[in-house]
Amino acid sequence: MNGKCLCGLTRFKLNIPRIRAYQCHCSLCRMQSGTASNLGTIVDAKDFEWLSGIHHIKSWVKDTGFTADFCTNCGSPVPNKLRGLDFYWVPVGAMDASAQVEVVAHLCTNSKVNWVPIPLITTRYGDLPNIAEFIKKLNTF
Ligand SMILES: [Zn+2]
Ligand SMILES: [Zn+2]
Repeated sequence: MNGKCLCGLTRFKLNIPRIRAYQCHCSLCRMQSGTASNLGTIVDAKDFEWLSGIHHIKSWVKDTGFTADFCTNCGSPVPNKLRGLDFYWVPVGAMDASAQVEVVAHLCTNSKVNWVPIPLITTRYGDLPNIAEFIKKLNTF
């Protein structure tokens, strides 16, 4: 399945059958996405492929390590490789509409704004989960 930024200069491909996504409600993800939470997933680097536009990407890194990569032409969030891990973070809203997506967890719900509800049936984490265990959860198809 393919994804792209708003202007289409940056394009990428995921070689996975469907997406197990999460929504993070922390203040950084809210500001980066411009809404109540982001919608992301983390895929194995072997299942991720840039198709075009990698030289249009700029990276903003906070001193804590939080990274926001974006297309310099349209400003859309684009995938970024996790520091020290062979995995890519992927903004799920950038995927083609035909992508099969299931939201399996909500993160940082302690930071959630009060104007958005979370479905009761979804797994919640008050803060950030253990990253290794969480990546495994997202990649269990
Ligand atoms: Zn763009
Ligand atoms: Zn977050």
